[in-house]
Amino acid sequence: MSVLVVGSIALDTVKTPAAERREQLGGSASYAAIAASFFGPVSLVGVVGEDFPAAHLELFRQRAIDLAGLQVRPGRTFRWAGEYHADLNTRTTLCTELNVFETFSPELPPAYREARIVLLANIAPSLQAHVLDQMRRPEFVVADTMNLWIDIARADLLALLKRVDLLILNDGEARQLTGHDNLIVAGRALLAMGPHHVALKKGEHGCLLFGPGGDGDFFSCAAYPLPEVCDPTGAGDVFAGGVAGFLAAAGGAVTPAKLRQAVAHGSVLASFDVEAFSLDRLRELGREDIDARVAALRRLTAF
Ligand code: AMP
Repeated sequence: MSVLVVGSIALDTVKTPAAERREQLGGSASYAAIAASFFGPVSLVGVVGEDFPAAHLELFRQRAIDLAGLQVRPGRTFRWAGEYHADLNTRTTLCTELNVFETFSPELPPAYREARIVLLANIAPSLQAHVLDQMRRPEFVVADTMNLWIDIARADLLALLKRVDLLILNDGEARQLTGHDNLIVAGRALLAMGPHHVALKKGEHGCLLFGPGGDGDFFSCAAYPLPEVCDPTGAGDVFAGGVAGFLAAAGGAVTPAKLRQAVAHGSVLASFDVEAFSLDRLRELGREDIDARVAALRRLTAF
């Protein structure tokens, strides 16, 4: 069954120390949906303007991404611009132009309401909640967020966390939301806010998974070691899409073992994402490339 993905669809301008790319395909839902599509069918909910290039829609269709939930509105597509600093870990947002995103209200076609697995990719927490309100009975809800919502919509975010099975966020966001510098303490504090599981991403240093079974319910997933990073944009969204897509394709109940596998696959997909701008690396990727890198990661971290 399809995984439902809701989030932003954007035209991104990205500057790294080495190069700049203008108005390329981006947005949390674009990255997440393409990542999830390696494992099975995807239903996408989002909004674009009339200026959204047909070639990007074609890319979604080629990857069996159902676009019945995509709204095309009069006006311009959401635009975002960011610049990475020398370490490629930190970035400054240069511009956020909401355009059609400003009045976006995600509406689910009837068939989407039955989805078992839903990924609430990064958008305002009130919109993420509106999606859940329309769903019949999702078995597993994955949610991502960002520093902006922790700053300006904390109450909405805290309410949403009570309805989430897996919260995904990065180290900086975990510290910001909990006020704890130590990430183990922060992970446990996040569990206490409502989600059953927390995946705490640490960029090139991997990901920590906290579960509901007490202090021993913990998994550390290494990041695949990359000698060169081109553009980290979307790595978090690709990770989330990979996790949700893997769980949907695995079928049945979400077990701790499946969740670990899903996190490893999400990490590997994110490692591909950062090797090129926009979705360029994922476009040319095959499932066999993913499986080979998951196997390599397993060898590298076994002892
Ligand atoms: P990440 O690198 O995982 O933080 O995600 C980057 C993506 O987030 C870019 O493709 C942007 O288009 C998108 N983005 C940036 N700001 C927002 C926002 N306020 N709401 C939704 N998506 C955003």
